[in-house]
This record gives sequence, structure tokens and C-alpha cells, in this order.
Amino acid sequence: MTECTHPRSKGAKRCRSCNCKAMWADPDFRARKARSNAATLEKLRQDPEFIERERKRQADGLQIMLERGTQHTPEAIAKRARTFTARRLSWCPPHLRREYIRLMTNKHLPASEAREVILNQWRTEMQRRNNAARAA
Ligand SMILES: [Zn+2]
Repeated sequence: MTECTHPRSKGAKRCRSCNCKAMWADPDFRARKARSNAATLEKLRQDPEFIERERKRQADGLQIMLERGTQHTPEAIAKRARTFTARRLSWCPPHLRREYIRLMTNKHLPASEAREVILNQWRTEMQRRNNAARAA
């Protein structure tokens, strides 16, 4: 794997594209991706070397999390959730965010359809507000 010289986020070893290539170049990664196939998984489990490499990979991942000091307190998790919501749902009016998530999780609408529903609702609200303002 050649060294990545592209712009990348702070602390990252590679850019997203190079990282993707590096991951797919790893036979274990490809094997993990094939896990949905029960026979493949069963075969992999027979290989003690694979199990050993997997264990090491998981330990390394854990080590990285510990070094970064990722917090798992309820406050930290709540803060992460708020940041995530503010970024990923910035298009969605705050009072409709709960409804958007409900449409996807309870009603199983795809994100694009749920978004359409929310934006229609928002447009209707705005119209009603404008009409009320005009009437007053
Ligand atoms: Zn790169």
C-alpha cells in the first residue's frame, strides 16, 4: 500500500479513498464482509490463525478508543447524539426531528421519503402561518 498524500482529517492515517482501498486489500477484511454467508463464516471459524488475527484486530481497535479517551458516560453519549443530530438533521426544522426519526424507525419509511413527508408538513405549516399573518 503506497502512502496516502491526499488531504485528510486530523489524526487520520489515510484519506477516505485510500483507507477504503487499504481495507479491501486486506483478505481478513474481505472475509469479514463475506460473513453474511454462513458457510464462509463457519469455514473461517475453523482457522485458528484467523481467530487470532480477529482477536488482535479487536484489541487494537479497543486500544485506539482508550487512547483517544472516548467517553462512555451518559452525558458524553447524549452530547454526541446532540452533535450528530445538529449536523445530520440540520435540514430538518428542530420541532419535526423527532417525527422524522419516528417515520423511519416506526413506519419504516426510507430516509428520502421521510424527508419528503417532513418537508411537506413544514411547507403546510409555513403556508398556514402566512395565511394567518395575512388575515390578521
Ligand atoms: Zn489518500
